[in-house]
Parts: sequence; C-alpha cells; structure tokens
Amino acid sequence: MAAAVLLAVVVTLVFAEEFWHRHLCPYGTFLSVSAHFAKRGSTVNKDQCIVCGFCEKTCPTAAITADAQGKRRIDSRYCLQCFRCHDVCPTQTIRYGAWAEHV
Ligand code: SF4
Ligand code: SF4
Repeated sequence: MAAAVLLAVVVTLVFAEEFWHRHLCPYGTFLSVSAHFAKRGSTVNKDQCIVCGFCEKTCPTAAITADAQGKRRIDSRYCLQCFRCHDVCPTQTIRYGAWAEHV
C-alpha cells in the first residue's frame, strides 16, 4: 500500500495530469470502455465555437482537440464528464446530451 501511494505521488509530480487519467487510473479505464457504448456525452456545437481554446486548456484528460478550423471536439474515450469545459466556455456551446444533438 505504501509503495502504491509513493508511486501515485511520483506520477503526480513527474507526469502531466492527463497521463494519469489516460493510462494509469483504473476508473478512467473503466469510463473509456463504457464511453465506447454510451449514447450520450459532452459535445461541442461547432457552429457556436469561437475558437478561444479555454475548454482545451482546462480539460484534465486532454480529451479536447481542434479541427483544421480550430473548432474544438471532444474525444469521448477520454472524457470523464467532469464538466469543467462546460463551465469555462464563454458561448456555452458545450452540452451534455445525445451524440446526434450536437454533431
Ligand atoms: S467534461 Fe471534463 S473530461 Fe470531458 S472534455 Fe470536458 S473538461 Fe474534458
Ligand atoms: S471554450 Fe467553447 S467557444 Fe472556446 S474553443 Fe472551447 S467550445 Fe469553442
């Protein structure tokens, strides 16, 4: 147990936050599997995205990337549904809903 705690501390200090969420966290792994089958999740309405990048900067798992025009999109495999991106989006264009609603 002590070794596990020590390892967690080292990983937290040495690696970026998304490394933990993407590759080591058991809960994150479980969520990535369930996200594969999910019918709902956080999505960006690209028509209202003003390409500010605030969402990408605040995402703990680096699940948000930009397309060729800079419009953001969310990779559901890495999204924890923490809603941090919802809170910082100035146009409130990130919503939780059925995938088809915001594509
Ligand atoms: S809900 Fe959280 S994990 Fe998902 S894309 Fe937004 S900030 Fe990232
Ligand atoms: S915070 Fe909102 S407006 Fe800004 S890049 Fe992200 S989705 Fe687009």
